[in-house]
Amino acid sequence: MFISGASRGIGQAVAAAFFEAGWNVATLDRRGAGPGITDPRVAQLTGSITSTEEVDAAFRAAEAAFGPVEALVANAGIVADRPLLRMSDADFAATAATNLAGTFRQVRRAARSMVARRRGAIILIGSVVGSIGGIGQANYAASKAALVGLARSVAREVGARGITANVIAPGFIETDMTADLAPQVRAAYLERIPAGRFGAVDDVAQAALFLANAPYVNGAVLPVDGGLGMGH
Ligand code: NDP
Repeated sequence: MFISGASRGIGQAVAAAFFEAGWNVATLDRRGAGPGITDPRVAQLTGSITSTEEVDAAFRAAEAAFGPVEALVANAGIVADRPLLRMSDADFAATAATNLAGTFRQVRRAARSMVARRRGAIILIGSVVGSIGGIGQANYAASKAALVGLARSVAREVGARGITANVIAPGFIETDMTADLAPQVRAAYLERIPAGRFGAVDDVAQAALFLANAPYVNGAVLPVDGGLGMGH
């Protein structure tokens, strides 16, 4: 399997879960840090999903190490939260370039061998705010909402080739990305989560493993949010 953004947070947990389930794991992040698993079944690659060349090179390296990629988890993403009236073009462009175009790039490259082999699972990491919105997150929420259209188009286009394309929509998961949120923002979220707790990275990892092994689930958005979005 190939996963972007596995050097920490959700991606690190997804990489570990697939590794523990017996998969070969190729990871891509900008520092080449990977999930920190030293094993011949893990290849920690360096590059940015904002570069077609670097994504292609990473896939070539992954294929050289482990053969064709059977599952993609396009997980790398960024936030650049800002109130709407203060959100710059650069804030908007940066989230679109990483979260949307970066994901598209990985999907296109992964699909190449999946189409030829007539099997594969494409899993995109969206967000609950792609459906319910988020204050100060016009750029981020739009980039994540767009992943639903991307996945569903891919599902329609190559579904008959045995390929699935689904989106996981995490809610509030405890990672570096959410660590800096103000206490009052955290409290306000918690109040709206029926599960009564924030999510753990492994909650998302288990959903990704499920989708990698679910050949008749296609074009779905799977919320992993403790009920925050009520299934959207
Ligand atoms: P983190 O910020 O903890 O980790 C982000 C990961 O993405 C890091 O490994 C980072 O590595 C990598 N990354 C960022 N930009 C690039 C890039 N251009 N190329 C390659 N790798 C990159 O995020 P989370 O674990 O919290 O989030 C993971 C995904 O889940 C994201 O898509 C996020 O939007 C989504 N999500 C998270 C939620 C949460 O509550 N935490 C909720 C909903 C969705 P490096 O910096 O080394 O490149």
